[in-house]
Amino acid sequence: MCPETESSGRHSVLIHAPYGKDAGLIRNELEAAGFPAAACLTVEELCARVGAGADAALIADEALVPQAIELLTKCFKDQPPWSDFPLLVMTAGGAATGASRHRLRLIEPLANVTLLERPLRPETLLSGIRAALRARSRQYQLRDLLSELADNNGALKQANGDLTRVNRELEEFAYVASHDLQEPLRMINIYTQLILDKTGKEDADLSQYAGYIEQGVTRMERLIQDLLMFSRTVNTDGVSSEGSHAGADLATSLSEATSLLHTPIQENAVVIHAGPLPRVRGDSRQFAHVFQNLISNSIKYRKKTEPPRIEISARECEGEWITAVQDNGIGFDQQYADRIFGLFKRLHKDEYPGTGLGLAICRRIVERYGGRMWATSSSGIGSTFYFALPPV
Ligand code: ADP
Repeated sequence: MCPETESSGRHSVLIHAPYGKDAGLIRNELEAAGFPAAACLTVEELCARVGAGADAALIADEALVPQAIELLTKCFKDQPPWSDFPLLVMTAGGAATGASRHRLRLIEPLANVTLLERPLRPETLLSGIRAALRARSRQYQLRDLLSELADNNGALKQANGDLTRVNRELEEFAYVASHDLQEPLRMINIYTQLILDKTGKEDADLSQYAGYIEQGVTRMERLIQDLLMFSRTVNTDGVSSEGSHAGADLATSLSEATSLLHTPIQENAVVIHAGPLPRVRGDSRQFAHVFQNLISNSIKYRKKTEPPRIEISARECEGEWITAVQDNGIGFDQQYADRIFGLFKRLHKDEYPGTGLGLAICRRIVERYGGRMWATSSSGIGSTFYFALPPV
């Protein structure tokens, strides 16, 4: 220990120069310049003080005997990862000897070593110490940033965990709610049918009311199914989901969608023209759902005056594949182009059936694979829906 400096409390700079009066002189010099300093009698003591939080050390190179190097090696290895401890080595005057060069080679990888040639001039000493303390203070800043980062990371992990849990609960809720809601709907259906069987045939009014009930039930069933689909889309981890590593073949997705929509396509004499489609990041079945939604919308929002025509094409642009689904339907005012992707947002409420969830589901699917989705339209002319996705 260094009893002569212990009373000053903080010892920023440690000095170990065991021979002669150097240690005391340097300490006085540093103290006079405003740098708290402590002279250490042994390397063990110096190491203990480094571990306790000193800022820099000054050591005479003749003190770097093998045993001292061993102690210093352990001491610097025990420093935290952000630390690059400033160590100033006072070399023998003039050209360093072979032994001294060897000692320095051993010590250099362990710390932030600076050589100070003796005889030491006060200005050289002070400027070396200033640079060392400045380097150390930068390291403390790094330490604080790292600890802040670790705290934030912890908070983020916690929030992420909470979010996953809440999402899971929400999905469970959606399942339970949809199941529980479907049950009373089935009852309503059955009893409406029974009432109709008993009295409906004679009573035109009653038969009409029963028809309204059935319509309401059908709409409710659609809503429940779409909500369930939406909750599954939001809660499934896209990147790790099956098939996403191999990528999605959009041509396969499209043919799956058109075969599912075979009947409405035939009934409405829809003309679909598709160009070559790429392979993108994602899952073919999920994108089949996107195509199915877009094509059925193009059919639903068609003009009464001409047969629906749908053009599907893809082009590569700045590292993404942009797929476009263009129709010649009724279109909508461009100012609503983003709003229609919101939950339950519908522009043509009364004239057309729907839940207002289809496009929200499509956008979620595309975003889960790192993509974007948007639309352009002109009222009375037609609409184009775009989705951009990264290649596989
Ligand atoms: P839904 O069709 O069930 O109402 P969507 O989320 O699929 O719900 O679409 C939201 C709204 O966007 C629709 O209600 C409609 O007003 C508008 N829309 C979607 N696709 C088209 C289209 N191809 N042409 C014109 N309007 C469309």
